Amino acid sequence: MTKGALIDMPARDRLLLIGGEDARRAAGLSGFAELLPSWDVAGSTTFLSGIADLTITPARAVVACVDGSVTTLDDAVAGLREAAGDGARIVLCGPPEHEPAIRRAAGFGADDYVVSPISHEALERAIGVGHLEDVATCSTNEPAMSSMAELSRIGDSLSLLDESPGALLDRLVDMVSAAVGSVSAQIVVRGTVSRVGPAMGKPVLAVPLVSDGATIGQLTVGESVSGPYGPDDVEKLGTYASLIGHLLSVASAQRELRSLAVTDECSGLPNRRFVRGRLATILKQAASDRYQVTVLLFDIDNFKSYNDRFGHAAGDEIIRKTGELFRRSCRKQDIVARYGGDEFLVVFWDADGPRTAGSKHPSEALGVLARFRNDLEAASFETMGDDEKGRLTVSGGLASFPWDGGDVDSLLKKADEALLMAKRAGKNRVIVVGEGGG
Ligand code: GH3
Ligand code: MG
Repeated sequence: MTKGALIDMPARDRLLLIGGEDARRAAGLSGFAELLPSWDVAGSTTFLSGIADLTITPARAVVACVDGSVTTLDDAVAGLREAAGDGARIVLCGPPEHEPAIRRAAGFGADDYVVSPISHEALERAIGVGHLEDVATCSTNEPAMSSMAELSRIGDSLSLLDESPGALLDRLVDMVSAAVGSVSAQIVVRGTVSRVGPAMGKPVLAVPLVSDGATIGQLTVGESVSGPYGPDDVEKLGTYASLIGHLLSVASAQRELRSLAVTDECSGLPNRRFVRGRLATILKQAASDRYQVTVLLFDIDNFKSYNDRFGHAAGDEIIRKTGELFRRSCRKQDIVARYGGDEFLVVFWDADGPRTAGSKHPSEALGVLARFRNDLEAASFETMGDDEKGRLTVSGGLASFPWDGGDVDSLLKKADEALLMAKRAGKNRVIVVGEGGG
């Protein structure tokens, strides 16, 4: 292993290792956490629980061990990618006999795969830990920008700003390599590596990448295709590093904007658009892995009267607190979203394993609901005073996949009908589809 990392990466990024004891052993990764002391390594025994974990706590990298026990590996990898987001590095590991399946599944969203016996270096490379030593460094001084071809490549990169960080880095590293005429080039940004050309060995030139005043990674190039680099090349590399730092900060601002687009401002919960998209993905996965999904659509009773009596700010506080109380009553993988107005959608899904015959009764959801109703009864609302304590109630409709509906629309339609029944029956109740009361 090389020593002397020059890259200024944030300490202890989170890495999620997926796989039970057997799978880890088969991949040769038993003492994994000790091998990567610079990572904060968390573990999940199955793909499903890994997906659930990522939904709640993002990770910079995911290493998933494959031992042949996952029957729908392609879907599982696609699910991992969805949950991990575009910025995370996903690497599959496994024994050589599963190489064809691993290679195919990698095409469903993994960045790389490694087959055992797995060397420490191969694993580090795959998850994107770059180590450099004794490289020449150059400054990020002023421009030496040139041809139309270069400008047009920069234009192409701009069009990728809104896409995945990985795709953007790939385009940028390509651009740099073409601009300075290097055999290979590499960008390392916060643990993510993008490279063009063959593995570099010892870089010839290196320059830090600075974004919003902070060093976020490094740009390096290997040998030049046409003799040694001249001062112009060095200058150009510095210019490109400045440009890349700027593009990455714009890209990160774009991502933040996108996140705002899926978050409800008042409650801070995911919004309708987000929850519908996630529910569609979860149902697809549930269909292939045979697990149960339960949705609860609930609505605050007589909300308008609180608005009228105590004002809009009091109404906002009710919405915020109701969402918060439900979130606290849920398991961590469940999704609580503001569906619109005073209506909320909760998606309960079971990462623990396949449904069994006769398991339709959504006992987990009902348990959560009971906890929530207790909490709501005990909650006090600053803007309404103590007189209203315990009066706020909700009504809801509960429907379960696959029994009550096979897709987002049909499932939510059933839940909505049950919610309406609950309102008509006098409010402050939840009706389970097919059971008529609750
Ligand atoms: P029901 O018991 O049948 O659910 O009646 P309700 O009064 O709760 O429901 P209704 O649909 O009549 O009223 C919902 C009100 O919620 C109407 C709208 O003005 C108000 N509202 C919607 N969004 C917000 C918001 O973000 N903040 C506040 N304060 N009020 C909101
Ligand atoms: Mg209401």
